[in-house]
Amino acid sequence: MSKFALAIHGGAGTILRSQMTLELEREYRGGLEAALKAGWEVLRTGGSSLDAVEAAVVSLEDFPLFNAGRGSVFTHEGKQEMDAAIMNGSNLKAGAVAFVNNIRNPIKLARLVMEQTEHVLLAGDGANQFAEQLGIAAEPDEYFFTEHRWLQLQDAIAEGRVQLDHSAELRNADCGMRNEDDGFAADERTPHSALRTRHSKGTVGAVACDLSGNLAAATSTGGMTNKKFGRVGDTPVIGAGTYADGHCAVSCTGHGEFFMLGVTAFDVSARMQYKSIDIVTAADETIRHLTKIGGEGGLIAVDANGTVTLPFNSEGMYRASIVENGEFEIDIYG
Ligand code: ASP
Repeated sequence: MSKFALAIHGGAGTILRSQMTLELEREYRGGLEAALKAGWEVLRTGGSSLDAVEAAVVSLEDFPLFNAGRGSVFTHEGKQEMDAAIMNGSNLKAGAVAFVNNIRNPIKLARLVMEQTEHVLLAGDGANQFAEQLGIAAEPDEYFFTEHRWLQLQDAIAEGRVQLDHSAELRNADCGMRNEDDGFAADERTPHSALRTRHSKGTVGAVACDLSGNLAAATSTGGMTNKKFGRVGDTPVIGAGTYADGHCAVSCTGHGEFFMLGVTAFDVSARMQYKSIDIVTAADETIRHLTKIGGEGGLIAVDANGTVTLPFNSEGMYRASIVENGEFEIDIYG
């Protein structure tokens, strides 16, 4: 019989202990633990891996420090355009949405694409119309606004770069300290007003194996700060940022263009199948290949025996996993 297991991530990047404060680290760990528990509760009570990954990702989307749902990064135009995908390994069905806006939980919409349409990926206005038709109320812009994301956009525009999330660059040792030039009055600042990011990756994801050995993967993201022209990354592209079949379930985070070029999520399954190797070896090889083609980031993966692996080639990756006996691990740094 399969052992059930769940792994989640909150993005990879240049995440250094030296740039983290105790308070922020506690908050990140709290967000990961809440998501782990949400997914675990589903598995523990005999629920499906699909429900478990959805529950975990909803929790991460609702947590404002991660780049997905609430807390998504801003586009060049100051909008929040989100991508998400979910895949059921037991029947190879998948659903995804790209550059949707004002949707509280894009992962739920992705699941509805999978279950209620004959399509895999809906994008832009059409995806929003689909949500409207299903009676999913749009959230106001204020729900998604977070001060530190807005400040990141101002930095990215000033420096003329498109920026991946994470890699905490704290302007002050104490992130509650005042930032002279952030355009906010002192009393408007949250403890995160000093947190800006550079060369880093955000995104959230979950993979799970349930009691029946069925696998599922889910990934959700706000993409990259200062992105333009309707840019879509790997997250909603099945096989690139998200994939699940009978061999493994995989969710990726990192510089999306390289994950698309490396077909990274599917690559783990392909190596397991074609080379008859285990998930840990396959995922390590996939990350080595990603490095070779110039990509940075990581992935989480689980197989049908409940073996979990979380490799990455960046400085850090927000990550956590829990196995059948309830033992869990939360890690951030490399
Ligand atoms: N992979 C995501 C993208 O390129 C970003 C991330 O993982 O942070 O859109």
